[in-house]
Amino acid sequence: MTELPRVGLGVDVHPVEPGRPCWLAGLEWPGADGCAGHSDGDVAAHALTDAVLSAAGLGDIGGLLGTDDPRWAGARGAAVLEHVRETLAAAGWRVGNAAVQLVAPTPKLGPRRAEAEAVLSAALGAPVSVTATTTDGLGLVGRGEGRAALATALVVRIGSVDSAQ
Ligand code: MG
Repeated sequence: MTELPRVGLGVDVHPVEPGRPCWLAGLEWPGADGCAGHSDGDVAAHALTDAVLSAAGLGDIGGLLGTDDPRWAGARGAAVLEHVRETLAAAGWRVGNAAVQLVAPTPKLGPRRAEAEAVLSAALGAPVSVTATTTDGLGLVGRGEGRAALATALVVRIGSVDSAQ
């Protein structure tokens, strides 16, 4: 029986922590302040994680990683996404594609968009589109207090007629 692809969504917000290395969308951004968090604070990777897990009906990032598991202290976003990919495969799913939008005035994504998409796509094993927007100075993002990201993902059953693999 054909099982239809499933979509999911994810949102993440972290506070900016002055002086912390900035990891965002799978890349390090020299000169920018990073985000606080148990892992590396990569809101884009975390939003993608929740989008993929929700699409497959596998819960959310808190259930996958825990909030204080020492194995994930300082973990890179790409490593988290690789773990998501493995978890998905064990449940019989793979990612079809995913998209994530950063909500952050800095760092400027444009010059490094292709690089970010390559890293995130490699980690998830599927095309990942990365876009960015601002809040025109409004709210916690506009004041530079935090960064947010929103993501969607589509997953397909491994071996289904909808799957290319
Ligand atoms: Mg997070």
